[in-house]
Amino acid sequence: MKRLRVAVTVASLAAVSALALPGSATAEQAQDAPGAAATYALPLDKEAVARDEYDDPHHDYPAVDLPAAEGSQAYASVGGTATPIDDSSCGYGVQIEGEDGAVYVYCHFQSPATASGTVAAGDPVGLTGNTGSSTGPHLHYQMKVDGTLHCPQEQLLAIYDGATPPAPADLPTSGCSN
Ligand SMILES: [Zn+2]
Repeated sequence: MKRLRVAVTVASLAAVSALALPGSATAEQAQDAPGAAATYALPLDKEAVARDEYDDPHHDYPAVDLPAAEGSQAYASVGGTATPIDDSSCGYGVQIEGEDGAVYVYCHFQSPATASGTVAAGDPVGLTGNTGSSTGPHLHYQMKVDGTLHCPQEQLLAIYDGATPPAPADLPTSGCSN
């Protein structure tokens, strides 16, 4: 009899604390959602690029070009392993093998990437510019899953809005290029 009362009291307390702290329940749900294992950050300062630039279609294949002034700080959108890029089409850039299973490529930095090796979401990776095959200062951002390009637009808009982005593999592979 006494034992039973104790159990009821504990259950009641749990119910009360769940009601009192709705934020903790939301956090638990977010952790259970697909893709929530990774933390994300915008690849550019939020003030640097307007929200509606993040859903622009790319000129010819899945990716996005974000207008950014020469020398804008670029950041890892997800943690992973960074490898600097230096070739004629990308110019200076960086590849990030993300902990979310996608491989990200940033292109057209002003100068060599400043990140190499392990990075966390939000770590600076380089300064944007106009190197390589580029006709004006911008950040080219693309992502591949198992070698296939996926459209990053929905992911970037979710990050911008502070929401949990879809898992990379769930992002579309077409419909984001002209
Ligand atoms: Zn591009």
